[in-house]
Amino acid sequence: MRFGIYIHFPWCRNRCPYCDFAIAVAPAGPPHQAYLEAVLAELDEKVALYEGKELVSIYFGGGTPSLWDVACVRTLIADICARFDAQPSDLEISLESNPSDCTSHAFSEWQRAGVNRLLIGVQATNSQDLVTLGRDHAMGDGLAALARGVTGGFRSVGADVILGVPDPKRQGKASRDEGDPGHDEGLRSLREVAELRPQHISAYELTIEERTPFAKMVARGDLIPEDEDRLASLYIAADALLTGLGYEHYEVSSYSLPGARARHNSLYWQGADYLGLGNGAASLLLLGDGGARRWQNKRSASAYLRDAPSQHVDFSEDIAATDFAIERRWLAMRTRDGLPESEGERQPELWSALEREGLVERKDGRLVPTLRGFLYNNQLIGRLGIG
Ligand code: SF4
Repeated sequence: MRFGIYIHFPWCRNRCPYCDFAIAVAPAGPPHQAYLEAVLAELDEKVALYEGKELVSIYFGGGTPSLWDVACVRTLIADICARFDAQPSDLEISLESNPSDCTSHAFSEWQRAGVNRLLIGVQATNSQDLVTLGRDHAMGDGLAALARGVTGGFRSVGADVILGVPDPKRQGKASRDEGDPGHDEGLRSLREVAELRPQHISAYELTIEERTPFAKMVARGDLIPEDEDRLASLYIAADALLTGLGYEHYEVSSYSLPGARARHNSLYWQGADYLGLGNGAASLLLLGDGGARRWQNKRSASAYLRDAPSQHVDFSEDIAATDFAIERRWLAMRTRDGLPESEGERQPELWSALEREGLVERKDGRLVPTLRGFLYNNQLIGRLGIG
């Protein structure tokens, strides 16, 4: 059984107004060592649950893990590898980074710690979108970091780009002008990123999450999000752009050059085991009866630092084997791997309908989502929930 470890590092320099992650802002800087000790204590508590499984990936996400003292990153990688009898070079070890932390010196330090896959939060390449998104890096920083990254000695480099950033010229207007062609700076960002040939690109649509400053701005009419038709056409244009440049669109929001799919994230989409450490981190543990146990830690970083590991879990559920089988089918339909064709024999009318509607196609003996199936993925997987 292959599994991965996710480590959440919650601190950021500031909170971006669209962000709903479990983050914290510490003006005096993150508590590097205290957080390392808390994560090691949690690892100590959970390690026995994953004994005997094969560790294949470690993923530092956040927050902004590129802010974490590299000595802590190094200690954690070494400790995890020792516990699971693994060599860092055999694993995919990913670290999310902010462009402003991507110096050549940092690259070599992260690599010496064992990081072999660098993910850079470019998000946008023009100043207008960066300002709207409240990012702390300036125009040019993202592409410069990426250019350094792709030649910086990592096995793989990925970039995140956000599509559908609202156009500030439209902010405060009650409705969109007729014939307004919309805002396609996101596509330009995507093109500029792809031209640098990172192995992986994640192209996310901006979503307005509840309780964020963006949600309040939308409620006041100070921010007009792109409408669904516009987002759909951006999604289709992004697919055409990136597949035309040789990227495989292998998951709803993920593109890779051949052979460079994300190993860690693929575990999530395969319904495999993963252990999440840190505040807000989620875990999945497969049980012997075909079911699974899922739990999630409390979101507060200060509570994580203060409490004993036994107090971290906020919510936990045991999923019955039949329910987990359905969940795995949903997850499978997030990727171009889809499901074996034999799956269609269980509900032939449903799958024929999905094919007729252009949401699914047959390819190499498998039922796989089409581009339309990716675009309307929630609807597609909702249809599979019938059992
Ligand atoms: S840098 Fe990332 S994690 Fe931190 S506030 Fe911004 S979007 Fe959220």
